[in-house]
Amino acid sequence: MSKKYDVCGNKLKMFKSVPVIDGKVCHDCMKKIGVDYVELPLSMSIEEILTVKEIKDLQANNQIIDPQKRWAEYKNKLKQEKFKKEDISAEKDKYDQLKAAIKADEPVKKGKVYLDFVKKQIFIDKTILEDYRLFRFSDLTSYKTIESPTTINKNHSLSRSIVGGLVAGPTGAVLGAFSGNKSYDAVSKMAVVLYFNNNYSKQLNYISTETKIDSMYYRDEQEKMQRFCVRLDKILVENENNEPTTLSTPTNSADELRKLKSLLDDGILTEEEFAAKKKQILGI
Ligand SMILES: [Zn+2]
Repeated sequence: MSKKYDVCGNKLKMFKSVPVIDGKVCHDCMKKIGVDYVELPLSMSIEEILTVKEIKDLQANNQIIDPQKRWAEYKNKLKQEKFKKEDISAEKDKYDQLKAAIKADEPVKKGKVYLDFVKKQIFIDKTILEDYRLFRFSDLTSYKTIESPTTINKNHSLSRSIVGGLVAGPTGAVLGAFSGNKSYDAVSKMAVVLYFNNNYSKQLNYISTETKIDSMYYRDEQEKMQRFCVRLDKILVENENNEPTTLSTPTNSADELRKLKSLLDDGILTEEEFAAKKKQILGI
């Protein structure tokens, strides 16, 4: 332990020292930078946030600090950090509860994607790069299957390359992608891409390394993907059925048109607005 003050180098005196972050400073040295312990409220420990170097620099430049202001800033910073920590912990609780609630519904799971048929929600778990996401079933707009063909047996004639995907609708058209004659003997990738209404998409890989299509692994993964797609179809069909109908019933249309006509007559609507609205109601 040093027997001298770290700033001025004077002999250290008991009870006259102020412990800063990285050393001991005398009251006189503190006074030189504007810290007078006679004036300073006891609740402030300004020395806790000062270093020997800063005090030396301040003295060298004949500068003083405003201890009250510095202390207030410091306290404020601490408070903000605390709030931030609380926010993070509240977010974590929210995530944990959400995931537990989804899991309790025994969802259909593939990778990070959980199809919850009880809550009618799709939960996409967080990754290192992305935060978790929660969608309603109705947010799913479509999906696509991807099968990237490749040839392992070079003698095998590969007449055409069908790289990419087949857009599958809710009608189960995706099944067509799995059957039929293959003009290739292996795939380098097999995946499903889910599309959501906010331009978000999520790819689920079933095969991501070169795999022969006559292998057990290929058939297993193909079956798994098929089963998953059947569930996706179920969601999409339900979405279509639940879609609010844009065509009103004839009586309602007539009523609505009469109302519109009176709005037109009263001069509230213009001819063009009326015509546009009429077209919309009649679905023409
Ligand atoms: Zn000193």
